[in-house]
Amino acid sequence: MIIAERKPIKELLEMLAGHDRVLLVGCKGCVTVCNAGGVREVGVLASALRIARRRQGRPIEIDEMTLDRQCEPEFISWLEEPLRENGYTAVMSAACSVGPQYIAERFDNVAVMPALNTKFIGGTLEHGVWAEFCRACGNCGIHNFGGLCPITRCSKGLLHGPCAGSSGGKCEVRPEVDCIWHLIYTRMKNLGQVDKLKALKPAKNWSGYWSGGVRRVVREDLTL
Ligand code: SF4
Ligand code: SF4
Repeated sequence: MIIAERKPIKELLEMLAGHDRVLLVGCKGCVTVCNAGGVREVGVLASALRIARRRQGRPIEIDEMTLDRQCEPEFISWLEEPLRENGYTAVMSAACSVGPQYIAERFDNVAVMPALNTKFIGGTLEHGVWAEFCRACGNCGIHNFGGLCPITRCSKGLLHGPCAGSSGGKCEVRPEVDCIWHLIYTRMKNLGQVDKLKALKPAKNWSGYWSGGVRRVVREDLTL
């Protein structure tokens, strides 16, 4: 899932300066799972912003709404009526950064601002702790590494073996995390596949990565 975290209240208040009637929109997708922008977080954030603005001597009206997803235009269209009826001057999106961009493209008469910082593609390690697992390189090759991703999880992004700085199975750059090459080797050894690691491999194909501009996936069988 996409992992995001809420921006500091101070930054959000700066964005909201000049706005007195705002719609705060959450998302029931990834940001609910990572406790950044679901129904509960939207409620807590709206209350915090109202209190902060009251203390500043400039009260703000903030309505709350949480869409099933903000990364699909059909759900964004649910905002049409509330925006038409209520005279909001701004929409603050508590979704990953796809959401506010869809809202901005759809509604040209309202300011749009992000409540969250979109961090990475990752998973839950324990309650309240998330880590990155994938950089979306566009050409997944983790079958060569025992199902683990050195591009993302090696601090140096090494694809051809460890850097020799690992100590006690931990990374020399980030001692709090496991050296992924230690994990890769251990797993390949358990699988009896160490020889696979030694085999020469062609250079990685990076053409699916982001440096070529906006990436797209087109499924001809699904397009109309
Ligand atoms: S190889 Fe690429 S697609 Fe696969 S997990 Fe790593 S970054 Fe993600
Ligand atoms: S110690 Fe391991 S994870 Fe850390 S940079 Fe070196 S090879 Fe990569």
